[in-house]
Amino acid sequence: MASINLDDYIRKVPDFPKKGILFYDITSILASPVAFKYCIDKLAEIYKNENIDAVAAIEARGFLFAAPFAYKMDIPLIPIRKKGKLPGVTLSKKYELEYAQAEIEVHSADVPKGKRVLLTDDLIATGGTLNAARSLLQEGGAEVPGIFGIVGLPFLNYKKILDPTPIITLIDYHSE
Ligand code: AMP
Repeated sequence: MASINLDDYIRKVPDFPKKGILFYDITSILASPVAFKYCIDKLAEIYKNENIDAVAAIEARGFLFAAPFAYKMDIPLIPIRKKGKLPGVTLSKKYELEYAQAEIEVHSADVPKGKRVLLTDDLIATGGTLNAARSLLQEGGAEVPGIFGIVGLPFLNYKKILDPTPIITLIDYHSE
């Protein structure tokens, strides 16, 4: 696998979506076949011997990386979506955002009981959404042996809330 500097492929947008937030935009990875392939191949290499049975991903940017990963690993993809988007019978989980509540759902029939489901999103910030998603999968009877994000913002302390699940990111940024 050709090595690249992933940082070169991540667009940084100050004050988006609101003042004071530095937004790490992964659409510039998608726009580069070299960088996109690097991410998927790297993840496949990391997880090839981990006996992963399925990958679950969070709407919407998480899907973009999880789908080619699932295809390459030959495993099912389990979409986790915002409330009201999935048409079948769902399990749901409410969680706290900074100033509001949010709710995510998964089709209960998609959660494989007793199986190892890797959980992913494009970027891990506070880890709040992934924490709720992990509970959802565990309540459905799955094991969550790992979490991966393309980008990590460890200064937002996601390791604490996601402990003890092992977390892998391909690149970390250390300040806002
Ligand atoms: P979290 O705080 O980990 O629950 O983040 C929730 C979602 O917000 C993640 O899916 C990220 O895609 C997105 N997000 C949060 N902070 C940023 C940021 N600084 N740049 C880009 N995306 C972000």
